[in-house]
Amino acid sequence: MTSLFLFAAALFTQDISWQPATPPQGSLIVVSAPGAITGDVAGEPLHFTGGKALAAVPLGATDSTRIVTLSIRWDGAVVGKAAYVPVRPRKAPVNEQVRAAERFTPPPDSALLARIDRERDLMGDAARRAHELPRLWKAPFVRPRTSRITSVFGSGRQVNGVWRSRHAGLDLAGPKGAPVRVSNRGIVALVGDFFYGGISVFVHHGDGVMTVYFHLSRALVAVGDTVERGQIIGRVGATGRVTGPHLHWGAQYGNVAFNPVDLLKLR
Ligand SMILES: [Zn+2]
Repeated sequence: MTSLFLFAAALFTQDISWQPATPPQGSLIVVSAPGAITGDVAGEPLHFTGGKALAAVPLGATDSTRIVTLSIRWDGAVVGKAAYVPVRPRKAPVNEQVRAAERFTPPPDSALLARIDRERDLMGDAARRAHELPRLWKAPFVRPRTSRITSVFGSGRQVNGVWRSRHAGLDLAGPKGAPVRVSNRGIVALVGDFFYGGISVFVHHGDGVMTVYFHLSRALVAVGDTVERGQIIGRVGATGRVTGPHLHWGAQYGNVAFNPVDLLKLR
């Protein structure tokens, strides 16, 4: 009995920590909780390996509270513990191009709204399934193109100082037909021609992580394909709601979009 009690007490007093300590909105964090088996952040389950798990802080959900709750569970007997992650505002430029794109757009009719809903469901389903695979990558993530960044993550439109829409990815320059490389090893989860994203490829990397590639002129992979890091999965295009050819590269932890640049720092 004594040793069991001590074991439980030790688990209770284990510190939960995370890096970075005060993450910006829309970022990937690494949670450390030795011995933990599961937990959740922003409604997304965590996958612990060797006492560490990835999680993501939402871009928009923390505007008022600036805190994200992190719950950790060890096992049935030692149920869990909550920690509160302080979140700092993400500073990003107000992007005039977003305004221009919006002026060109008539209000959607009911058929278009139905299409947008259907596509949101497909993407939501792919995001949920990202949790079903074990970690598939072994080497660091790479940029899908080494070209110039034309729009950073989190930029967008403000009205009276309040963000109205924010860019949930990173735009990389490229002429139509230029190669798009998958940023790490994974399995193709979804390929389609979407109203906003145009021809798009979604790749599961396991442990909740998914990367997305929008506005392609062509997709060169199919659902279920295993892709190796750096493999060409499509060609740059201008499909979907865009003003010119470029690659929109996105990253998600489950349904939570975060800055894909954070993936490049993972070791
Ligand atoms: Zn974009």
